[in-house]
Amino acid sequence: MKVPFLNLRAQYQDLKNELDTEILECLDKGEFVSGSRVREFENAFSEFLGVKHFCACSNGTDALYLILKALKIGPDDDVIVPANSFIATAEAVSMTGATPIFSDVDPETLLIGSEQILAVLTGKSKVVIPVHLFGMPANMDDINTMANKHGLVVVGDAAQAHGSRLKGQDIAQFCFASGYSFYPGKNLGAYGEAGGIATDNEVLAETVNILSNHGRVGKAMHRFPGSNMRMDEIQGAVLKTKLPHLDEWNKKRQRLAAEYSKLLKGVGDLLLPHEDGNRENSYHLYVIRTSMRDELQVYLEDHGVSTGIHYPLPIPLQPAYADSGIKSTDIPVCADMAGRILSLPIFPEMSSEQQEYVVATIVSFFNNV
Ligand SMILES: *Cc1c(COP(=O)(O)O)cnc(C)c1O
Repeated sequence: MKVPFLNLRAQYQDLKNELDTEILECLDKGEFVSGSRVREFENAFSEFLGVKHFCACSNGTDALYLILKALKIGPDDDVIVPANSFIATAEAVSMTGATPIFSDVDPETLLIGSEQILAVLTGKSKVVIPVHLFGMPANMDDINTMANKHGLVVVGDAAQAHGSRLKGQDIAQFCFASGYSFYPGKNLGAYGEAGGIATDNEVLAETVNILSNHGRVGKAMHRFPGSNMRMDEIQGAVLKTKLPHLDEWNKKRQRLAAEYSKLLKGVGDLLLPHEDGNRENSYHLYVIRTSMRDELQVYLEDHGVSTGIHYPLPIPLQPAYADSGIKSTDIPVCADMAGRILSLPIFPEMSSEQQEYVVATIVSFFNNV
């Protein structure tokens, strides 16, 4: 049996008629950038998240950049980010000229909390970016209390957390603003690059909209130098067509995750994802930890199961951030997890036969070592 890491073609086949009609209509009508379908998606997604505004843009990295830029973050500022994220979280900070300050994470949840943030807080820290990594909501009550006390603005990186909830409320409602990515492989994926910003703050929403559209306030009036970070109309068409299915897809991911957690409990030295009653994880990724990660990954690959590692090297240990001066001993939890984590296949179209095969293969690996 072959089990892919994810299967974007299966999802397309399921919705092919609707998607083809929507995409062809963009071409037919000659609507290519930021048209009515993008507006429709913005309205629908802000409603889904329970926030006042959703501003579409070019991708998730630009979404975070636009938020920071609207907050006037620049070269004199520090922005706290977790060391274990996709590099884009830090890149968005660097794009503004500010300095990313890398924080370690909690060993159980693999997310930052007030304790880790306080440990790296500098006098120039203006913003903290909790990343709801793998779909697991960060502990926002804890982070917000601490951020209020220290005058930090809380900006969520929700690129892996479409529909992740805390006590029944979407994580977007707990952050001043959140950046979303709709890269094809995310829980809600476009057919190209796309992203956006969720916020209740009207001024922020207006500013990111202007910034992403050349600083434009009238047809030929530009208030400040902005950029072109708009969303393509075809991506708007794809996203508005897919959005009504997001809840059902997330529920399928959650059922698969619950099944993995049930079947893999006590197998080998596996550490399974943290679970608690307050956090509704959208399971963008199902990440296990084991001291035999590399051997297990090769064994799975040899038996037709594709896996991933998110991410093999903490951001500050990448050549790109060598000037941070951070050593692995400064971020012991992130450095340790990088050598142990393995992302198992999880996608809404995954069959129970496929999942049973993945589990059986993992069990047979541990029975043979
Ligand atoms: C995907 C991702 C991003 C960046 O999104 P792009 O749309 O690829 O620019 C940022 N942060 C995290 C955690 C991500 O997973």
